[in-house]
Amino acid sequence: AQWVYSFGEGKAEGSADMRNLLGGKGANLAEMSNLGLPVPPGFTVTTELCTYYYANDRKYPDELKTQVDKALAEVERIVGFKFGDAANPLLVSVRSGARASMPGMMDTVLNLGLNDVTVEGLAKRSGDARFAFDSYRRFIQMYSNVVLDVDHHHFEEILDRHKDEKGHSLDTDLTADDWKEVVADYKAEVKHATGKDFPQDPTEQLWGAVGAVFASWMNQRAIVYRRLNEIPESWGTAVNIQAMVFGNMGTDCATGVAFTRDPSTGANEFYGEYLINAQGEDVVAGIRTPQQITIAGKKANHSTLPSMEESMPQTFAELSAIRERLERHFRDVQDIEFTVQSGKLYMLQTRSGKRTTQAALKIAVDMAREGLITEAEAIQRIEPKSLDQILHPTLDPKAARTMLSRGLPASPGAASGKIVFSADKAEDLANKGEAVMLVRIETSPEDIHGMHAAKGILTTRGGMTSHAAVVARGMGRPCVAGAGEIRIDYAAGTLTVGGKQLKEGDTITIDGGTGEIFQGLVPTIEPELSGDFGTLMGWADKMRTMKVRTNAETPLDARTAVTFGAEGIGLCRTEHMFFDADRIIAVREMIMADDEKGRRAALDKILPMQRSDFAELFKIMKGLPVTIRLLDPPLHEFLPHTEAEMAEVAKAAGKDLAFVKGRGAALHESNPMLGHRGCRLGVTYPEIYEMQARAIFEAVAEVKAATGESIEPEVMIPLVATRKELDLLKAVIDRVAKEVEAAKGVSFTYLVGTMIELPRAALQARQIAESAEFFSFGTNDLTQTTFGLSRDDAGSFLQSYIRQGILEEDPFVSLDQDGVGELVQIAAERGRQTRPDIKLGICGEHGGDPSSIAFCQSVGLTYVSCSPYRVPIARLAAAQAAL
Ligand code: ADP
Ligand code: MG
Ligand code: MG
Repeated sequence: AQWVYSFGEGKAEGSADMRNLLGGKGANLAEMSNLGLPVPPGFTVTTELCTYYYANDRKYPDELKTQVDKALAEVERIVGFKFGDAANPLLVSVRSGARASMPGMMDTVLNLGLNDVTVEGLAKRSGDARFAFDSYRRFIQMYSNVVLDVDHHHFEEILDRHKDEKGHSLDTDLTADDWKEVVADYKAEVKHATGKDFPQDPTEQLWGAVGAVFASWMNQRAIVYRRLNEIPESWGTAVNIQAMVFGNMGTDCATGVAFTRDPSTGANEFYGEYLINAQGEDVVAGIRTPQQITIAGKKANHSTLPSMEESMPQTFAELSAIRERLERHFRDVQDIEFTVQSGKLYMLQTRSGKRTTQAALKIAVDMAREGLITEAEAIQRIEPKSLDQILHPTLDPKAARTMLSRGLPASPGAASGKIVFSADKAEDLANKGEAVMLVRIETSPEDIHGMHAAKGILTTRGGMTSHAAVVARGMGRPCVAGAGEIRIDYAAGTLTVGGKQLKEGDTITIDGGTGEIFQGLVPTIEPELSGDFGTLMGWADKMRTMKVRTNAETPLDARTAVTFGAEGIGLCRTEHMFFDADRIIAVREMIMADDEKGRRAALDKILPMQRSDFAELFKIMKGLPVTIRLLDPPLHEFLPHTEAEMAEVAKAAGKDLAFVKGRGAALHESNPMLGHRGCRLGVTYPEIYEMQARAIFEAVAEVKAATGESIEPEVMIPLVATRKELDLLKAVIDRVAKEVEAAKGVSFTYLVGTMIELPRAALQARQIAESAEFFSFGTNDLTQTTFGLSRDDAGSFLQSYIRQGILEEDPFVSLDQDGVGELVQIAAERGRQTRPDIKLGICGEHGGDPSSIAFCQSVGLTYVSCSPYRVPIARLAAAQAAL
């Protein structure tokens, strides 16, 4: 087998598309060499060898040595030096390189091949003993560190001592003799630490370094990194061995790193840093202040040191030409590493540059306009989920701030507000126009209205999947959760942290993207929705075939979603409209009623409130489709909890406390998720759905009268298992529609459809579609009912399932395409058999998850619906799915 691939002299055995075999670094070194760029010659030992090595008890195949010798001889021929030669030694670098760039792998070893003899040869050849011994001490330190496992600090202490004794402040101040002394001390340290002399045989050095690269594939840091980033162990790493070029040979030498465009703004400006008379990672190591590559960069960074453009104009021009060449060739921003030896430029690495979301958008749009990539490619270049970072207000980077504490970054965005400790207070103050920050130990479903009213949410307990975190993300409210250092005293109305005490009404600022909490108001900047973002989303909209709707029931959410490009509401959950302070009493009265008459009396009080909710939503949505789900949760969720609340309800309902308590007990269910909920409520208490239908249709009539806008509401019945349930309830809705039309003297159209969230409904889709004019896949419940898994309880064992590989992902986050997905597909097919043009949508959490969206495209759904802040993510993901 071929284990070794050579590159150099304007050609290579490998190329960029051989990344799996050669690793990212090796493949691109080969590619640059093929392009005729100045790359020092070398060779790559393949990732397959790494796999072989671990499969064969850490041994190499017999033919490896011959292949390496041959490749090394080729490098010797090209540069005219010989490995280990006393007069004319070849030095090499040994560099690891996996498929994906991986921190945690072995550090590079430079100047390999130096020993007590060859260092003299190098000194003579270069006429610069200082340079030769500087290189030797670097080599001893690096090699001893990565191969012999001697810690850096031993060497740093020795160097510092020398500098102190000689009164030098910079490494570059040291003379050849100084470095000789340092080298002697370094070698003594190696002997002391390892019990052996520093290896003098270059061949032993080379195989030692190669072995260290392979060994680093299995070190703890690398294993952890692979796990976090889902990189399979089987990929292995490659090793690159390359002739050294020297940036530390004098003032006409340098080493640097650059991005072909600015990676933080995306501006089409060459951006980078370099250091004169330096080697390897000196630039990033922070030993000396690096200099800017360009004059513009020098200005922008207020640097007083000369830029490369000024101090090495010719080399800079060459580098600029390579910058353009690489961008045109790779059709993407490149992150490059280079070295200048005696005025001659060498390229040591190129790879696609990491960038901020903002920069990614600008670069994609610019490159499409420059004709470098197509609009479709521009769309593919953006990770939909990354948009989350730019859709929220962010802290003004220039603003001063005082940090109070830190918690988990539970929901992105920055917000400021006055501290309030209860949801009711939050709503109160927000109604008066105040910006409030809801601060709680933890939140529960009863706090929803306060979470809505608040600009942001801070909790001191709970993790990334706590109630506060999940709800805040859904609503698009910034949230910092689990800020454990903060003590809240509800009774005193104070919070204490780090010796500071703040009280209700004091302003704080949170950054939900970082988890930081600040005292006072830190100004924020609004997201930029036009510009490059707008352009790219416009292209995405042209290319996608699925519509994107939103899950929204409040005017704020609906408005936000429309700004983000929602094309309708796919799920308006009416129970949220039952919880608000002004109506929960009436809702509880309804639950307390012991007969239909009593229930109707209470429902009459709720009707006008629901009607105005719907009317407001219809006005905001301006004729876009709105799907309204009739009441879904079991009634007991609306019941009072505290004694005081029970007393209040008892009074309003004209009953005694014991009755209220008894009613609570009667409604108690041991498994409410599978209990008396969804259309089962409509079947047993049709007057509830009747009221809701009336509210919807009267709102339609009201908006039509007020604005002339024709609304076609889509009335959705939850948790249907049989066609008969739907028939029965549809009859109620149709009757109410006729009554409203007659009473108001208007006519309107509407659809009645159902959620598909039970396996039986999916299987019976053919029959159900005879009544249902649309299906919306409620994939949260469908996942629960398909797996027989409760979303609220799965947290305790799901992680274990994922760790052990039983499930790849949390099925509540990313749709289980094999199981739940098959039911969706069956239902879509069977539904279409009955009603070919049936509208099909999805309204579970999955509607905002890019891989689930791709699945929705594949089964031919009409639209996806997701929370407002996910709408842009879904638009982009839908476009990618359509390409
Ligand atoms: P990393 O993967 O951490 O970037 P590299 O293998 O790219 O590590 O090596 C780090 C640095 O070492 C390079 O940026 C370059 O400055 C220097 N280097 C590597 N190989 C050579 C070489 N053949 N000649 C000169 N410098 C080199
Ligand atoms: Mg590098
Ligand atoms: Mg449901």
